[in-house]
Amino acid sequence: MTHSADALAPVGVFGGTFDPVHNGHLRSALELVQRLKLAQLHMIPCADPAHRDTPLASAEHRAAMVELALGGDSALVCDRRELHREGYSYTIDSLIELRQELGHERSICLIMGCDALLSISSWHRWNELLDFANVVVIARPGWQLPTQGLIADWLVSNACAGVRGLHHRSAGAILIEELRPLPISASEIRQLVKNGQSARFLLPESVITYILNHGLYTEN
Ligand code: ATP
Repeated sequence: MTHSADALAPVGVFGGTFDPVHNGHLRSALELVQRLKLAQLHMIPCADPAHRDTPLASAEHRAAMVELALGGDSALVCDRRELHREGYSYTIDSLIELRQELGHERSICLIMGCDALLSISSWHRWNELLDFANVVVIARPGWQLPTQGLIADWLVSNACAGVRGLHHRSAGAILIEELRPLPISASEIRQLVKNGQSARFLLPESVITYILNHGLYTEN
C-alpha cells in the first residue's frame, strides 16, 4: 500500500465496557487492523452505558486498563472521548465527533460483536449510524445472525461484498467478518478475581497487576 493510500485507510471504532479489557478484545482488535487494513483502531471505553448494568470498575480505571493493555501499539489507541461527555455514552455521538475530526472522505468502520448487533435497534438513533460510518459485525461462535426481521433487513440492504468496499465508501456499508474465536469474557474474569482465583493468560499481565493493585472486582 502506498503512503497516500495509507493516509486514507479506514479508521476502526471498537467500543465496549472493557470491564476489564481482555485478550478476546485485544486479539480481535489486532486481527481487524490487519484484515481490514485499518490505519488505526480506536478502542473507546463506554463511560456510562445506557443498555446494561453500570460497570463495576469506574470509567477511569477501565480506560487506564485499556491503555496499559495496548502499551505503545500505534495501530491500536485508547480513545477516552466518552469519559469527557456528560450523560449516557451513545455511540452515535462518538461517530459524529469522529466524522467531524476526520472529514467526509475517510472511511470509519464501527466494529461490533453479534451480541451488540442483536440489540442494535434499541441503540440511540441507531438508524443514523450508517450515515456516519460503515459497520463491521464480528461473527462469534454461539451467536446466530438474524435471518428475518428489522435487523436482518438492515444487514441485507446495506451489505458490502468485502474489505475493498470499506475502503471505497466512507460510510453506509455493512461487512460481516468471521474472526478466530477466543471464548473469553470480562464477566468470567471478574468472577475469577472475586473468587481469589488466577485470571492469568486471559488478559495482559499488566492489567492483572493493575486490578490487584487497585482492589478491583473483589466484591459485587
Ligand atoms: P461482559 O462479560 O462484561 O459482558 P465482554 O467480555 O462481552 O463483557 P464487552 O466490553 O462487553 O466485553 O465487549 C465489547 C465488545 O467486544 C462487544 O462488541 C463484544 O461483542 C466484543 N467481545 C467481547 N468478548 C469478545 C471476545 N472474546 N472475542 C471477540 N469479541 C469480543
